[in-house]
Amino acid sequence: MQSWPAPDVPRLPGRGQPLRLRDTASSRIRPTEPGPTARMYVCGITPYDATHLGHAATYLAFDLVNRVWRDAGHDVHYVQNVTDIDDPLLERALRDQDDWMVLGMRETALFREDMTALRVLPPRDYIGAVESIPEVVALVEKLLAGDVAYRLDDGSDDIYFDVSTAPRFGSESNLSHEAMLAFFGERGGDPDRAGKRNRLDPHLWRGARPGEPSWESSLGPGRPGWHIECTAIALDRLGMSFDVQGGGSDLTFPHHEMSAVHAESVTGEEPFARHYVHAGMIGLDGSKMSKSRGNLVFVSRLRGDRVDPMAIRTALLSGHYRADRSWTADLLDAAQARLDRWRAAVASPAGPPAEDLLAGVRRLLADDLDTVGALAAVDRWAEDALTLGGDDPAAPPVVQDILDALLGIAV
Ligand code: ZN
Repeated sequence: MQSWPAPDVPRLPGRGQPLRLRDTASSRIRPTEPGPTARMYVCGITPYDATHLGHAATYLAFDLVNRVWRDAGHDVHYVQNVTDIDDPLLERALRDQDDWMVLGMRETALFREDMTALRVLPPRDYIGAVESIPEVVALVEKLLAGDVAYRLDDGSDDIYFDVSTAPRFGSESNLSHEAMLAFFGERGGDPDRAGKRNRLDPHLWRGARPGEPSWESSLGPGRPGWHIECTAIALDRLGMSFDVQGGGSDLTFPHHEMSAVHAESVTGEEPFARHYVHAGMIGLDGSKMSKSRGNLVFVSRLRGDRVDPMAIRTALLSGHYRADRSWTADLLDAAQARLDRWRAAVASPAGPPAEDLLAGVRRLLADDLDTVGALAAVDRWAEDALTLGGDDPAAPPVVQDILDALLGIAV
């Protein structure tokens, strides 16, 4: 699939620090230790609806990972998928009497526009589920051959993964069996399907149903499961033990757990990813933002209302990426006021030296993406520039580059 255009990233003097991130599997903040090329996979959208602020916050968090690694001298191989065939897409298309494929293309196009407006660095590989079907089929064949996948005995072409065969099942999310069952049922799983070996077994291949799209394959006609889709796309581009597997915290289980055990079963190697990193959820005015409540705030809608995308970006980065937090009108107003002050400060002919700010922002972001601290440090420099002035004419453009390169905020 076509990705979106890359914004320019200014080069900063010196080099950034090694990035430490919280890893869900070990429940610790640990250093990432990428080679010359850092490898990251972030789960993409299912394009049945527009990008809401929760999605945006997640992709902004991993955009900072990308930027901090690049500043530390790494090349970054970033992969993202688009789940352009799955139940939610078909359900929405049916509800709206829409063509599922056109709906997916339309929402994916809007997502690209939103990401471009928010100055998110594009993935190197942007891969759709439909285009990865041959890769999924090859993986499922291997899992069947290894007897860790099985067919149901009901005449369907449905194929499931047997979680009881995976010794590391549970080591990514660290959840109890009861919690797993609850999340599995809420998040696309079918714990009560008759004939499965274990209630938590996820489907790998969904055999053709009347009225649903399906693809011919050696497995029988059908379509890929969601978890194996990400396994296939990640393995074929990044290989095992890539640096960061990312997504919203609602992907911790079952999605990331299942993708990991699929990969570890098929390769006999571990781990799938060295860090599992999860972004918090964004609520609206104190309540959870969800499609069932009908209170989603869409990036495209804000853009349509002439909200500066840099204010959206600044507002979302004003909270820590792991924190569940709320979107409010005040948050957006405060971000716009902050941007206005920063823009006035960097437009000054001279300012206080920027070296300490650069070192400070690098140190804060390298510490599990402390954007709260980083934005406050920029505030202090801007306050000094606007109230006390300064005599370094090189400082304002350097601060402009710090904001752009490390935080993705163009001022
Ligand atoms: Zn995924």
